[in-house]
Amino acid sequence: MTTFEGLGIDARLIQATDELGYVNPTPIQEQAIPVLLSGTKDFIGLAQTGTGKTAAFGLPLLHIIDAAAKHPQALVVCPTRELCLQIVKEIELFKKYIKGVSVVAVYGGTSIGLQIRDLKKGVQIVVATPGRLIDLIERKAINLEQIEYVVLDEADEMLNMGFQDDIEFILKNTPQRESTWLFSATMPPEIRKVSKRYMKDPVEVTVGKVNTANKSIDHQYYVTSAQHRYQTLKRIIDFNPGIYGIIFTRTKVDAQEISERLTREGYDIDALHGDLTQVQRDKVMGQFRDKSLQLLIATDVAARGIDVQGITHVINYELPDDVEVYTHRSGRTGRAGNQGISIAIVHSKEMYKLKQIERINNSKFHKLDIPSGKDVCRKQFFHFMDKLLSADISHGDYETYVPMLAEKFADVSKEEVLKRVAAMEFDRFLKYYENAEDLNVRERGKNEQRDSRGNGRRDGGAYESRRDRGGSNGYSRLFVNLGTKDGFYKASFLQFILDMSDLKKEVLGRIDMKDMNSWVEIEKGAANQMIRALDGKNYKGRRIRMNDADSGGRRPNKRGEA
Ligand code: AMP
Repeated sequence: MTTFEGLGIDARLIQATDELGYVNPTPIQEQAIPVLLSGTKDFIGLAQTGTGKTAAFGLPLLHIIDAAAKHPQALVVCPTRELCLQIVKEIELFKKYIKGVSVVAVYGGTSIGLQIRDLKKGVQIVVATPGRLIDLIERKAINLEQIEYVVLDEADEMLNMGFQDDIEFILKNTPQRESTWLFSATMPPEIRKVSKRYMKDPVEVTVGKVNTANKSIDHQYYVTSAQHRYQTLKRIIDFNPGIYGIIFTRTKVDAQEISERLTREGYDIDALHGDLTQVQRDKVMGQFRDKSLQLLIATDVAARGIDVQGITHVINYELPDDVEVYTHRSGRTGRAGNQGISIAIVHSKEMYKLKQIERINNSKFHKLDIPSGKDVCRKQFFHFMDKLLSADISHGDYETYVPMLAEKFADVSKEEVLKRVAAMEFDRFLKYYENAEDLNVRERGKNEQRDSRGNGRRDGGAYESRRDRGGSNGYSRLFVNLGTKDGFYKASFLQFILDMSDLKKEVLGRIDMKDMNSWVEIEKGAANQMIRALDGKNYKGRRIRMNDADSGGRRPNKRGEA
């Protein structure tokens, strides 16, 4: 059996590991340590968490670095604050008998000033999360000029959390980097790409089985129309009473607006987006983390790096354009051995995106019907009954009330009591869903099938036929009383009018946005459809006015003033 001595580790390190009770090296240590000590430049270690990876790179680092030189020589980058602290703690234990070596943890969500002070003390090993490290680089508070060793720990998790650009930035900003050691539990294509770009002939070692896709996530989708997206979201939430989830939107306007709307309707939700201050952001994250918030709605940028345990659902309010972004989003669930669900709410015209994701991520989406009002009520009802049955009555003085209760309910049957409890809890809810409409967009006709085979950018059947009918030359110019003051910028405005009208981008011409108003060029054949979809509707409590700009404000098929 191999021993740590046999691996060529410094005696002082062996003394420390002995004291920690390490008798034999774990498989990843046995395979990695001799390679890393041999002067091999680049290394890839594929192993699950908990297999002893920290010692696998920590011991060789401590063996190699120069304790006499008081500048950062090794940089360990890892995805989360918790891991960062854990790595530092272990390295501290390993270096117990080595004099003059310092290690510092650098991570977000805590005072940057103290970390800057620690860095100035002449540390040799920096253990950092990517976001904070970039912050320090940009403030010129850390000098990576002389870093020789870069360790990327849990590289797949870092990419899942949206840190790919940051990692590349870090690798680019370590000009003296001699060795890059990458540890990861899985080997998705993005990691291959990073290793190809920044590593030279790495020695690759695999311990145990390596997955390419995260099999603990169930990918599901619901097909609805643009105007029912919000109702569909609500129904999905209502159908999953125990949900603890993150909803992703493409824009901060959407995140804010949906959050406000759902809050008004009694949901436990808050938004995380770029307009929040760090204090507001920390507050929202704190509430979500300790589960006093059930739902978080976020933009991709704001949600970068979020690491919260136990997330049951990720909901894509709209699918992102980029497959990688979908991977980051869905990677927030199904962590640490738990099962998770990633849901996409899609239009029939977005089917090609699902196929793209399936192809690149090597995963499969399952189509589900949007639950009917009845389904939701049934689910909520049984959830409530389960809660009722599992209520803890071991504390409190309930026993003393039993005789009084028995008297009060003497003439009421058990069934009736249950019905009354249910009525109290559900009356409002049942009424809301009483006449709930079917939100599913059912597949129809050939065009739809062609679409679901994912033929590139083909649109759904309904769009094709509408466009065929359109076909006329020239544009109409529409006036609308929405502008940048309403929180729109061009892309989000475009998305908004297209979603509302169920039209596609190609029918539009020039868009001219001002503070309060905008002008939209649109194919003549599609103009009425857009006016009908927007004119008279509400946006943030204001009535939208849309009309043909060149016909003196007259609106087709509508009553009302100009
Ligand atoms: P890691 O994967 O580095 O987080 O390590 C997982 C756990 O295994 C930690 O608690 C380590 O202290 C422990 N560990 C690492 N290497 C060994 C070893 N060779 N023998 C016994 N325990 C170890």
